[in-house]
Amino acid sequence: MNSYQYLMSDINKINGIGIKTSKLLKKKNINTIFDLLWSLPRNFTDRTNLVKINELQVNKIQTVTVNVVKYYFPRLRNLPNKVLCEDHTGKLECIFFNSYEGYIKKILPLNTRITISGKVNYYKNKYQITNPTHLSSDTNSIKKIFPSYSLTEGLTEKKYNKIVNYVLKNIPDLEEWLDEEVLRKFNFISWKEAILQLHDPKNLKKNGNFLSRLIFDEILSTFLINSKVRTAIKKIKKNKKKFNNDVIQKIKKKIKFKLTFDQLKAIDEINKDLKSDKKMFRLLQGDVGSGKTIVSLIAANNVINSGFQVCFMAPTEILANQHFNLARRLFNKNIKIDILTSKTEKSDRNRIIYDLNNNITNIIIGTHSLFQEKIKYKNLGLIIIDEQHKFGVRQRKRLSDKGGNNCDILVMSATPIPRTMIMTIFGDMDTSIIRNKPKNRQDVKTYSKLDNKINEVIKFVKKQLLLKNQVFWVCPLIEESKKIDHKSSVKRYEELKRFFNNKVGLLHGALPKDEKNKILLDFLNKKIDILVSTTVIEVGIDFPNANVIVIENANKFGLSQLHQLRGRVGRGEKESFCILMIKSNLSENAKKRINILKSTNDGFKISEEDMKLRGYGDLLGFKQSGLQSFRLADPIINEDLFLLADKEVKRIELKNQNLKKYLPLLKLYDRADILNDIV
Ligand code: ADP
Ligand code: MG
Repeated sequence: MNSYQYLMSDINKINGIGIKTSKLLKKKNINTIFDLLWSLPRNFTDRTNLVKINELQVNKIQTVTVNVVKYYFPRLRNLPNKVLCEDHTGKLECIFFNSYEGYIKKILPLNTRITISGKVNYYKNKYQITNPTHLSSDTNSIKKIFPSYSLTEGLTEKKYNKIVNYVLKNIPDLEEWLDEEVLRKFNFISWKEAILQLHDPKNLKKNGNFLSRLIFDEILSTFLINSKVRTAIKKIKKNKKKFNNDVIQKIKKKIKFKLTFDQLKAIDEINKDLKSDKKMFRLLQGDVGSGKTIVSLIAANNVINSGFQVCFMAPTEILANQHFNLARRLFNKNIKIDILTSKTEKSDRNRIIYDLNNNITNIIIGTHSLFQEKIKYKNLGLIIIDEQHKFGVRQRKRLSDKGGNNCDILVMSATPIPRTMIMTIFGDMDTSIIRNKPKNRQDVKTYSKLDNKINEVIKFVKKQLLLKNQVFWVCPLIEESKKIDHKSSVKRYEELKRFFNNKVGLLHGALPKDEKNKILLDFLNKKIDILVSTTVIEVGIDFPNANVIVIENANKFGLSQLHQLRGRVGRGEKESFCILMIKSNLSENAKKRINILKSTNDGFKISEEDMKLRGYGDLLGFKQSGLQSFRLADPIINEDLFLLADKEVKRIELKNQNLKKYLPLLKLYDRADILNDIV
């Protein structure tokens, strides 16, 4: 068995791990020996300090040397066995649940001096240690510092320590994969040495070269895999797309606004890719409302003009319809546009599929249905995917393969995440970022309001309706139960109807799709003015006339989520408002979230703050990307190591270095299960 196989072998291969223990560990997601290396000591137990019985501190782990005086072995099965011990200062009882007399007599022979360690209780005027973890007649063998791991129920600390110890003793030496230059930065600590130091109780909660090295390994492996996908796709030769500046000039005339600097820059970057002979694999990133759609439609039009078809996938039907209508308005009449969703009639569907297959249709806009096997494109030149957070590296790679060699790929995402996260999640793609929003866009004025002041909010909403504005009303999110969510939104809907009559609509997750769409369209067409909903409105629909969003129980939402919700308004030129309804007794963390939101509209800043508050693991996008979270690395705290890894990967790319020596690293750390697809 080689080192890699050893590390990847099932934990039940470890001496002393039986079926029961391995089940317990697997519940904690520890499946392999390698996994076990990352269950880090949370704390350590200091047993070096010997005390006398009258100095014992309750509820602490203490070590004491005593004489064994007397046994109590009750006949009743469910009563514990006890052993009375003493020193010259007092008495101490050892309590044993589930231990046989014979065993107890062996470990605590009468009239001997024994050193005992364990957590101390005080019960009925006596000190007690229940199931003492360490007992020995040799005081020195106990006087050590033990790492203590966070335990699963049913697994004792002692057993766990033993397992980890065994594993640490048997860690194989792996051939070094880091280059000397990089290794020097970590003081030449090998991977194995770093792991050992990681578990050394002395190093607990300490940073050091050992930790930096392990974090770096983790980042590097991810970046290398990303790079591998990226370069593999770059190697694909395609027919260059040929077009001039006509499209953008014509479209510019049809829109009321001026394209921003960032939009123009993104268009430029995309055009360069389209015109090159390498396949484009690009992410267009920009906060909600930054104006990604127009950029993607200009790209689509250019591709069509150079003789190719375009496929544009939106996350929802409404959004597909919105894009469809916009494309019809912007594109020349001779361009054939179709829309395909799950609602498309069967007869239409057959015609649409026929037209696509025969190059009659130039651009098809739709939902997931666009990727059915049945649909064949005659001459696909560009796939655009809008608001797709759920695509991980792996799905994206498949998508890229699907279009064929001549097909460029543009993915759009509104998840504003820090640079280090983009490198991690989208590192297989090139990126264009729209950082600044259109100039006419005002910040959404954000206020918090105690929830017992709801009458003031209703008054405010009334005024806004008189100004012909529209309002989103987001109802409490109660995580435990979708049913309760639903109930609370129904209740609020009924209440608001008393004030606003038939001007109110209700949208919740349990509604059938068609009804949902009808209500959204009613809102879009201003048949209703207030849309009460649970969080279903999060995804990218453009309602330029809505300028107020009321969010009840705002403290229950995460920062990024609140920001996404707030992004539903403030898309037109009107002054817009976000009212966060809160309770009076907020936690510190909730107060911070509300204050951050009130102080800035910058999505990138907010996501960074969000990560500081919550850790990156929960961040929108990361969880959904299909990547496993890092075990050690943190994109905010370890920014320098991310940048270092990025530099190192670029160097490796530049030298066109063979990745063979990194294989052990890649295999051990593969977080996306993608290695087999690309090596
Ligand atoms: P997102 O990036 O969230 O997809 P959209 O593309 O839906 O944003 O654009 C949001 C709104 O901003 C739309 O109503 C769009 O017409 C408008 N818009 C786009 N670009 C500009 C611009 N440069 N100036 C003003 N408004 C713009
Ligand atoms: Mg959008």
